Amino acid sequence: MRVTVLGAGTMGHGIAQVAATAGYDVTIRDIDEEIIEDGLAAIESNLQGGVDRDKLTADEKAAALDRIDATTSLEEAVDDADLVVEAVPEDMEIKQSTFEDVAAAAPDDAVLASNTSSLSVTEIASVLDRPGRAIGLHFFNPVHIMGLVEIVVAEQTDEETVDAATEFVEAIDKEPVTVRDSAGFASSRLGVALGVEAIRMLEEGVASPRDIDAAMELGYNHPMGPIELGDVVGLDVRLDILEYLREELGERFRPPQLLKQKVRAGKLGKKTGEGFYVWEDGEIVGVSGDWGDDE
Ligand code: NAD
Repeated sequence: MRVTVLGAGTMGHGIAQVAATAGYDVTIRDIDEEIIEDGLAAIESNLQGGVDRDKLTADEKAAALDRIDATTSLEEAVDDADLVVEAVPEDMEIKQSTFEDVAAAAPDDAVLASNTSSLSVTEIASVLDRPGRAIGLHFFNPVHIMGLVEIVVAEQTDEETVDAATEFVEAIDKEPVTVRDSAGFASSRLGVALGVEAIRMLEEGVASPRDIDAAMELGYNHPMGPIELGDVVGLDVRLDILEYLREELGERFRPPQLLKQKVRAGKLGKKTGEGFYVWEDGEIVGVSGDWGDDE
């Protein structure tokens, strides 16, 4: 069975890696040669990490790498695909034109999956003549570490497609949760609700970022508190998702002023060195702004 992954960026190369490790033949397609090279290098390095930690043998690593081809040609990439997973940028027009191009070149019975983290899969699928074969497969970052895949069932998705997607997710050793296509699915909607309330608590002076995070880490066993998680995801990304959820689900997702200010100031979290925390070399070294540096 051949799995084709469109996009070799952050998510695409990870999806290709887990599919190849599980024994699928994999083709990666990106429009940019250099990103393909970087993606393949990242897969090699992740697999080597697995060998170093005794998660797989050197032979298994070599066999997984052997199963991966890469190309910049869409036609070549999808012409014998059984499952196509797109991980191209989060933009409705790009997703829809990708689905149209894939439908024109892939076998009629191939399943077409989108890794969108927020867009309507129903709307992406609406450009297809046979939208029953479209579905969302929402992976989490980093793909080779995170155990969850949300299976997002669009209005048009047929039963056979849900079954094929579920079988694939189980075969790559991930846990599927099935959700009806709706804004934020299950994961982003709940995760963002917690994050937005935590920022409102900061605005109201309820507690410091460290204390809010410690409350959820120690009191609820979350591996990371909601303020730190926002910094890791990127506050700009969080703001975009909130604006979309507000549009779709109402005022309870209204972005807090404090979040907007951070984004306007370019304080986007870990990736820019400051968000609600101050970061150096990927580690928190202090707290931003009024809460002071308590290190
Ligand atoms: P990315 O920018 O790292 O990668 C996107 C890649 O798509 C780029 O390499 C780009 O060259 C390529 N591309 C653009 N147009 C293309 C086309 N027509 N065909 C093939 N490749 C094309 O982005 P990403 O973070 O990997 O996100 C990809 C998708 O995954 C988005 O829908 C995003 O919302 C979703 N997602 C991201 C995360 C995350 O944490 N980054 C988590 C879950 C889901």
